[in-house]
Amino acid sequence: MVLLDGRKTSQELKQEIAAEVAVLREQGKKVPHLAAVIVGNDGASLTYVSSKVKACEQVGFQSTLVKLPEETTQEALLEKVYELNQNHDIDGYIVQLPLPKHIDEEKVLLAIDPKKDVDGFHPANFGRMALELESFIPATPFGIMQLLERYDIDTQGKHAVVIGRSHIVGRPISILLSQKGEYANATVTLAHSRTKNIKALVLQADIVVSALGIPNFVTSDMIKPGAVIIDVGITRVQDASTPKGYRIVGDVDFDNVAPKASYITPVPGGVGPMTIAMLLKNTLLARKRSEG
Ligand code: NAP
Repeated sequence: MVLLDGRKTSQELKQEIAAEVAVLREQGKKVPHLAAVIVGNDGASLTYVSSKVKACEQVGFQSTLVKLPEETTQEALLEKVYELNQNHDIDGYIVQLPLPKHIDEEKVLLAIDPKKDVDGFHPANFGRMALELESFIPATPFGIMQLLERYDIDTQGKHAVVIGRSHIVGRPISILLSQKGEYANATVTLAHSRTKNIKALVLQADIVVSALGIPNFVTSDMIKPGAVIIDVGITRVQDASTPKGYRIVGDVDFDNVAPKASYITPVPGGVGPMTIAMLLKNTLLARKRSEG
């Protein structure tokens, strides 16, 4: 069994990005600039956003954190989005989800300029991705595809079972794995809460991508020997023995599944760190594309 080490791979990616930024700097060109908008004080969201800003600093990007109060109106947030669309200094930006309940997320995402939509959530980018055109691929599925490529995992003609059909993970990774390409060309089954007999399906899988957010959902009796296991799940479970009072667990019963797998991502340290690295990659792409 080989551990798909997202920490190590994301570090390599960040070093590559930092080297490109250094060249831009040497050439007197503008370095990429990522902005992140956060509304409210949700603890997990603040942690995610601050790690994104920190990652920008590590690779030499400029970053701007726009912190807005919980009671920000939809109109005020849209104004901020329009301002960021117009600001030539910002190459890409994200609006951290979830937004407070009184704000219509869809309206906000639709207002983002697709050329700056480095999260890849705008329908224009999602559609372009599905059509295999130049786009921004959402960071988590993009990170999974990078792991497959960098570990040279053969996906050609393999049966991939994706569990979860969210717009940010399950659905896009099912599209990417089924596309034409060297680390794609898989035959994909997309499972969700209405799927009957998930166990029988997963047992047929050469590649399993689990993105549902239920700890220990994928157990060793569901796994074909030699399968590749990608665990996207992130769930905080209470654990008084840790300094924070909780620990992060994935969807996969790692201890029992790992011995049967050919490759497996740990949680934490698998897909999670790749997600941030791919956001940086998208921001660098936005910078390059804006130069024409
Ligand atoms: P989501 O929007 O909550 O969607 C969950 C999906 O799982 C839905 O499609 C749902 O089916 C399906 N599902 C729920 N219960 C099921 C069951 N019993 N059997 C089969 N399918 C079931 O999730 P998400 O945003 O994609 O996130 C999934 C997990 O990944 C979460 O733990 C999240 O924290 C984590 N995540 C991690 C990263 C990372 O960087 N590593 C990034 C994003 C998300 P229905 O559609 O039928 O409801």
